[in-house]
Amino acid sequence: MVRSTVTLPLQQGMRASQSHAHSASAPEESGNGSQMEYVERQLVQTAPRWPEGHHSCVALAFDLDGPTGDAMLNGSIWTNPSYFTLGSYGPWRALGRLLDMLNERRVPATFFVPAWVVENWPDQCAAIIAGGHEIAYHGYRHEAFWTLDRDGQREVMERSAEVFAKYLGMQPVGFRTPSGDWGPDTIRVLMEAGVRYSSSMRGDDRPYLLHAEGIAEPMVEIPGRWELDDYASLAYHRNPDFPASLDRIASYDTTLDNWRREFDGSHRDGLCLTTLFHPKVSGKPGRIALLERLIDHMHAQGDVWLATCRDVAQWWLDNNASGHAQEFSA
Ligand SMILES: [Zn+2]
Repeated sequence: MVRSTVTLPLQQGMRASQSHAHSASAPEESGNGSQMEYVERQLVQTAPRWPEGHHSCVALAFDLDGPTGDAMLNGSIWTNPSYFTLGSYGPWRALGRLLDMLNERRVPATFFVPAWVVENWPDQCAAIIAGGHEIAYHGYRHEAFWTLDRDGQREVMERSAEVFAKYLGMQPVGFRTPSGDWGPDTIRVLMEAGVRYSSSMRGDDRPYLLHAEGIAEPMVEIPGRWELDDYASLAYHRNPDFPASLDRIASYDTTLDNWRREFDGSHRDGLCLTTLFHPKVSGKPGRIALLERLIDHMHAQGDVWLATCRDVAQWWLDNNASGHAQEFSA
């Protein structure tokens, strides 16, 4: 296995997604070194080897956002009850259907859940854990971490940890950043909060390692892609409009075909695929069949490792970060 390591500078104030475009920049060009965080990526030229001889890996993941998000953060959701119910449909109704489908197929999944959703639908969230699935952090009310300073991010993580302990008696070890990006000090905030893996970035189709300056242990990143986000093809609502100025709900056949092709490519090359699905979007009566057919298609290959993000991260750490291996404790 050929392996090389590249250290990418992450300048203070520069977002991780932007820094990749400047991977050739020398660190000294990036300003005050003491203020920099570093992203270290393991560039493995051959496909990863997955457990028990599996050819590729799939970590099914769902964001159980409920009604949290921008409209809750700016308060407008409290005068828009229809929009509230569009979100609450996720934990209240779609989640049970989705759990039944996953449990029938014996497929584990990870649910990234804003803590506000746990507070308001604790029994539904407890059912996720009872079904053998994983729950992980996703903000308190789906805050955009890149808009918060370090103390603001710490406050969200501390409040979330209290909610998970109080209602579910557990502490997550995973995190997916709400709203698609984070700030230069987010990795440090997460590590200090006990987070050991993230599924927030877009920089690879295999897991890789992130480092916060001054912290010895790396954090595993399990990157996702918008192609595997059901919002991109199926989300649709009015007031606020989504998609803005674009009337469409994509053909279900086309959507399923797109997802299958993404899986086929990932499986062919022995990579790791995760999803950004939302129960309120694809856990509806007519759409759950898309997920069923996608999972059945994966199962039909016979040599796919379907695992929670937590198990994928632990395995990656054990096998790709010698000297850093440690057990995650929830
Ligand atoms: Zn979300």
